[in-house]
Amino acid sequence: MRQIAIYGKGGIGKSTTTQNLNAGLAQMGKHIMIVGCDPKADSCRLILGGLAQQTVLDTLREEGDDIDLEKIMKSGYGDIRCVESGGPEPGVGCAGRGIITSINLLEQLGAYTDDLDYVFYDVLGDVVCGGFAMPIREGKAKEIYIVCSGEMMALYAANNICKGISKYAETGGVRLGGLICNSRKVEGEADLVEAVAKELGTQMIYFVPRDIEVQQAEIHRKTVIEHDSNSKQAEEYRTLAKRIDGNDMFVVPKPMKQERLETILMEHGLME
Ligand code: ATP
Ligand code: MG
Repeated sequence: MRQIAIYGKGGIGKSTTTQNLNAGLAQMGKHIMIVGCDPKADSCRLILGGLAQQTVLDTLREEGDDIDLEKIMKSGYGDIRCVESGGPEPGVGCAGRGIITSINLLEQLGAYTDDLDYVFYDVLGDVVCGGFAMPIREGKAKEIYIVCSGEMMALYAANNICKGISKYAETGGVRLGGLICNSRKVEGEADLVEAVAKELGTQMIYFVPRDIEVQQAEIHRKTVIEHDSNSKQAEEYRTLAKRIDGNDMFVVPKPMKQERLETILMEHGLME
């Protein structure tokens, strides 16, 4: 069972990419569980067809810890099992700790069955807030992918996330599997992301084109793969799924000094 955490700047496309990639893995016959680690609880929306689902933390608050697994885990497209960790009451408590509470409960309830090929954690934000590093800090997820684009802030965030990973790599054994470029149609984007990946000691595992079809499918609360399996974008996500399934490059990333990152950005015409 490979346990994979997806990180990246807010709004970059973590949840969309994770779900489409998982739909691709499901078409390959893989057994998957997605654990949403975002108080927004929208990590499984496209897999479940938008079904509102009770989050683990809400259920714990309302019913105590005598919980049936069926209550918090629902199956969606491709039999993908979906769990939303949910969040603490707004303004109170640490969301990161909530994630660990949820994972521990899932373990107790026997959610991590032997038939699972993959568990994906869709994690909000970057590792600057220690709480959100929990899945890797506690050694739950050993494999990380960072979703980014050729935009400056996305690459700053990617570099910061690498700082977090390299810190926990010594103790928790976590490794970076690559950068997923979710294109924002920036000029020279693939070259830039590849250059940043190389400097970090990793790879750009795939370049996902920007396509309006992703949002059209989203309106129907579906992945592109379910909405239009024959489309070009569906094929892109299937290729991403194959790349990840066959990946064998796992590294302790080498985060850059800010100045080095800025030099690379300048070399690619992104800054004056
Ligand atoms: P958050 O940090 O808030 O959880 P996120 O990183 O999970 O955000 P998403 O919610 O997955 O980001 O995506 C943000 C928006 O970008 C969505 O409306 C989604 O449809 C759109 N989007 C993501 N990837 C693509 C793409 N390749 N082409 C077109 N639109 C995309
Ligand atoms: Mg998200």
